[in-house]
Amino acid sequence: MKLQRLRIAVQKSGRLRDGSMNLLKEAGISFSNGKDQLKAPSSNFPVELIFLRDDDIPQYVEDRVADVGIVGENIFIEKQRKNDPIKKLGFAQCRLSIAVPRGTAYTGLDWLEGKNIATSYPEIVQQFLTRHRVKAGIHVISGSVEIAPGIGLADAIVDIVSTGSTLQSNGLQEVQPIMDSEALLIAGPGLETERREILDQLLFRIEAVNSARNNKYILLNCPDEAIERISQVIPGMNSPTIMPLARKGWSSLHSVVNENDFWSQIDQLKAAGAEGILVIPIEKMIR
Ligand code: ATP
Ligand code: MG
Repeated sequence: MKLQRLRIAVQKSGRLRDGSMNLLKEAGISFSNGKDQLKAPSSNFPVELIFLRDDDIPQYVEDRVADVGIVGENIFIEKQRKNDPIKKLGFAQCRLSIAVPRGTAYTGLDWLEGKNIATSYPEIVQQFLTRHRVKAGIHVISGSVEIAPGIGLADAIVDIVSTGSTLQSNGLQEVQPIMDSEALLIAGPGLETERREILDQLLFRIEAVNSARNNKYILLNCPDEAIERISQVIPGMNSPTIMPLARKGWSSLHSVVNENDFWSQIDQLKAAGAEGILVIPIEKMIR
């Protein structure tokens, strides 16, 4: 029997490409060939990549030219295909927002009534307008949406914003976020058992990589009487490891902390008597 491979559609080049390739690499999946190729089989895991424009990925996945794909949630929602959202991947974070020329007396969504909005996301914009009972025209353009107001093509735009610097340099101001987005793994309808099993293995690895990214290994020294209090602040995966220091009455305590909680915990640790705190990245983490 021919060995099955799970076919993964990845953006050919752009904002999702590096994040997608890094995630697969950190999951221990290697690809030998170069950037210009359309397809890349892995040398050590039963997957094969196909490189496409991000807009085309939902269609190819629905048609099962690829089994799964990595796209922004914005594209997943906009394209409305029969794919399943499987897992948020924690990169390519951005938002879709309404922006208007700087200095506009924008008073709220009412301001949009009867206006013209330029966007590459007509479905998402129409859903938003319908939900808020606003009637406005939608002018679809596929790139450089931010220049539309300046050339008289539209009164407002809906586009991707991350830092806001593109809006700024085009004389626009963000007035209303519409949706948040990050990279998403999507799967096509009716995945066969064998491919589903490969997908489950892939998800297990992605989970290990992403948990590791969000967690850090922490080592600190403390007087023995502080061990209990510190263990309550940073219990880790089970409970901290304690090792005696050569200095009598002192220990080294090792645990795992969540990146997001770290800065709020640090004061409590110091107050409890912790010293010489080291925080180290973790490569993989399996719970
Ligand atoms: P393609 O040529 O594949 O069609 P594109 O130009 O449409 O590419 P990119 O600009 O590479 O798309 O963006 C791909 C996805 O990355 C977007 O759909 C969005 O989900 C996310 N993204 C876009 N801009 C940013 C940003 N500034 N920060 C973070 N994520 C972003
Ligand atoms: Mg695109």
